[in-house]
Amino acid sequence: MKPSHIEHIGIAVKSLEEAIPFYEKVLGLECYAIEEVVDQKVKTAFFKVGDTKIELLESTDPEGPIGKFVAKTGGGMHHLAFAVEDVQEALNDVQEAGCQVIDKAPRGGAEGLKIGFLHPKSTMRVLTELCGDK
Ligand code: ZN
Repeated sequence: MKPSHIEHIGIAVKSLEEAIPFYEKVLGLECYAIEEVVDQKVKTAFFKVGDTKIELLESTDPEGPIGKFVAKTGGGMHHLAFAVEDVQEALNDVQEAGCQVIDKAPRGGAEGLKIGFLHPKSTMRVLTELCGDK
């Protein structure tokens, strides 16, 4: 597997409404999309910085992964997503290299992309996502 770039950085926030003005008014970025990902129990807001995006994540359910993360930590950096061409192929490659994964097969993420998560046990505790068109 060979990632082409950092696709996005996922940041968990208590509220998009509270967080978006920081990215727009202080950092001067533009929120170009807000999308709910029902499967992951989140509402997301996206900003572009070069080829990389910032993905803000607000929980829609306290029992969801982001809800639990924010309750425990107050929010902050949540995951790092690498862009790959073929997520299934990349998931196979990392497993072959001895990495534990959360997703053995890709699932649907925001922006119509396929995503798969690696297990933090195998990634020095950094929740790592692979993200691609297929
Ligand atoms: Zn993500």
